[in-house]
Amino acid sequence: MLRNPGRQDRFIFAKDTDRRGRFLLLAAVATLALLGIVGHLTGCYDEDPDEEVDTLSPNPDGASVGYASLNPDESLLPDYREGWILPYKGFEDSLLAIQGTTLANVLEITNAIRDHIDFSRIYAGESLRVWFDAEGKVQRFTYSPNIVTFHNLVRSGATGKFEYSYTRLPTETRRRIIGGEMQGTLNASLAQRDDVTTWIRQAVNNALEGMISFNTDARNGDRYRILVEEEFAEGRRIPGGRVLYASYEGKVAGHREAFWYEESDPKSAYNAHYTVEGKALASSGMRLPVDRIHVTSTFGYRIHPITGRRSMHNGVDYGGRVGDPVYAVASGTVATAAQDPYSGKKIILRHIDGTETYYLHLSAIGVRQGAPVKGGQLIGRVGNTGRSTGSHLHFGIRQKGQWVNPLRIKMIAAPVLTGDRIEKFKDQLRDIRALLEKTAASG
Ligand SMILES: [Zn+2]
Repeated sequence: MLRNPGRQDRFIFAKDTDRRGRFLLLAAVATLALLGIVGHLTGCYDEDPDEEVDTLSPNPDGASVGYASLNPDESLLPDYREGWILPYKGFEDSLLAIQGTTLANVLEITNAIRDHIDFSRIYAGESLRVWFDAEGKVQRFTYSPNIVTFHNLVRSGATGKFEYSYTRLPTETRRRIIGGEMQGTLNASLAQRDDVTTWIRQAVNNALEGMISFNTDARNGDRYRILVEEEFAEGRRIPGGRVLYASYEGKVAGHREAFWYEESDPKSAYNAHYTVEGKALASSGMRLPVDRIHVTSTFGYRIHPITGRRSMHNGVDYGGRVGDPVYAVASGTVATAAQDPYSGKKIILRHIDGTETYYLHLSAIGVRQGAPVKGGQLIGRVGNTGRSTGSHLHFGIRQKGQWVNPLRIKMIAAPVLTGDRIEKFKDQLRDIRALLEKTAASG
């Protein structure tokens, strides 16, 4: 049975606001008690405390996907509620928006599931389901990022604690080759096709933008060829998919190819498109600002760990030791290199497309205002200056005056694959070439 979230289902969000105000007060104590467990000890608590979010109009525009009903025994529990990851909100806030959930519930669920899902890769519209017992205690929880994948927590009768399980319904992998001739822009050419999803179109653009200057080198009649891999369940396409290969044959741009490389760790920052030589092709060539990726706090609205209020965290916190190197994520110029009581020692870089990147709470600044910097250049050191409760880098990205989620912007771990990775890449490249031939023959 497939469930399609309708208007009435969504309505439950609207009734929730005054409950939440009460819970926030009551749960402030619980928050402090659980702080250590949740692991938010390091971070910036420097957001505007008066910034409150409008929870009355969640408008989950991504919520058009139907979700399969996994648990046939859901009727055994008297109280079942369904919600969604809300636009511009994190996992915790979206969970809290489900009627009946308390901050204590949210913290318990988050703590039990945090090792199994990547909070920086959740998207609006993904399904959250909570089952309460007669006493209002959460007995079961499911986070479902798509129609076939389920992360389940079930309270164990023996221990009283949540036990985690992962379920994936059987799927079918389908590969196809999409080819065509460019008219106007590549983006427009792909957008016209009804066999190319927005997801795939963006992936192709991101891959090819890294090696073709579309503004100057694209011509009508240039040709593209794409190998797409998508998963289907019960005949329905699962949102997402991979662009295993994209090529461009241009009068001016020449022959260009991009290959998908992926490691067994789905969170690996090396998972990206590369040239045949193993040179990374992430859009805008963004690099990581730190050597080690350990996100201690993600972007978005969250519950302030000290005041219990909801506030906006307009960047990402990377855990690190005082003195760890901080790098420019792309080339640009130093717009600000200064210090204030709020951000501590900070650097703001302005990049060629107008994007600004922010590096806060530094222990040392290594660049002067106005100086040009290259992507990957050492610009400062991780610190704990300003309003910060532990050594970390607060990294923010501003585009057209708006804060954007840095984790949604593709950043790559290294500009060129080396060592074992380049060997693995060559294997995968060979596999992709074989798939191209096979798929072309069968299509
Ligand atoms: Zn921060």
